[in-house]
Amino acid sequence: MIKTILLKNRPEGTPSMSDFEFITEESDLNIKEGELLLETTYVSVDPYLRGRMSAAKSYVPSFELNKPIQSGVIAKVIASKNKNFAVGDFVSGMLAWKTKQVSNGDGLLKVDGSKAPLSTYLGVLGMTGLTAYLGLEQIGKPKAGETLVVSGAAGAVGSVVGQIGKILGLTVIGIAGTDEKIEMLKNKFGFDAGINYNTSKDMKADIAKAAPNGVDIYFDNVGGPISDAVLFNINRFARMIICGAISVYNNKELPKSISVQPFLVKNSALMQGFIVSNYADKFPEAMKQLSTWLADGKLTYTETIVDGFDNIPQAFIDLFEGKNKGKMIVKI
Ligand code: NDP
Repeated sequence: MIKTILLKNRPEGTPSMSDFEFITEESDLNIKEGELLLETTYVSVDPYLRGRMSAAKSYVPSFELNKPIQSGVIAKVIASKNKNFAVGDFVSGMLAWKTKQVSNGDGLLKVDGSKAPLSTYLGVLGMTGLTAYLGLEQIGKPKAGETLVVSGAAGAVGSVVGQIGKILGLTVIGIAGTDEKIEMLKNKFGFDAGINYNTSKDMKADIAKAAPNGVDIYFDNVGGPISDAVLFNINRFARMIICGAISVYNNKELPKSISVQPFLVKNSALMQGFIVSNYADKFPEAMKQLSTWLADGKLTYTETIVDGFDNIPQAFIDLFEGKNKGKMIVKI
């Protein structure tokens, strides 16, 4: 029996369970020469999937209606007629939200559960870790002694960005949505300060207080009013790394925002968006660095693991409610 989750509707505003459809097929999956049969172990749910659920043109094609949704998946090889993969291997790749599926092996990477827990290949040692490291290094060009502000700081990307900032000798301030998350940023991840944007009465003033020397680097995961407040506090030659804008992903209309140009001109500041795959040639070097920091105990991580295939869509929806700490992952 194979279960699959299809995109039933393009979400209007915040996604809901009625946008997804579950199907179950009684099917024996037979593999041909060169193919392998995979059993899903962990599924990554990520904010960027919201963009793929809409019809708007972007850097990756939209999901098709009534077709399986795909995301980062860790799967176990349970049958193989492909010489590169053996039964019992674990792989990571962009795969369908299915309990079992056939693959020809293209785009799959073998992952070693004895070196690090399998789930970490979707988080700190996967796409989100690479995003944190490469975005900060390539665009932020951090220098010891500078001040880094990170929004979405308690999430998968943000929690890694802040820790790398500390490893590199920066003062790090995190912005997140609950006091519990702020405590975690300071106590578990070593951030210097944190701001709860849900209780702050004046984000602009709170950022100024937390960053008395101004902001040299802003790693932006959320966009919207939080990022507007950071702009008022940037220093000359500040670098703003635009990684994501989760606060506006569910907007039905174009968000109202302040005009960034005067801030950029006045401060000779840089604002640059990026997609992690821009730096694909640097993935091996970045993975090596992240693995070393992890092995040396300089980098740590947290995961919110949700149990069960049927809970994948809800786990995805919960990202927009901030229900995760660190990487949101579904265990099958
Ligand atoms: P997270 O683990 O950070 O999960 C999302 C978090 O966003 C929630 O936990 C919540 O935390 C916060 N959030 C939700 N709604 C809002 C809101 N309205 N305002 C402020 N914060 C909100 O996700 P990821 O680490 O996977 O992704 C972080 C960002 O990075 C996303 O924007 C994503 O699209 C982007 N990204 C970009 C990549 C690239 O290549 N450019 C690659 C990977 C991710 P809280 O409780 O603090 O509100």
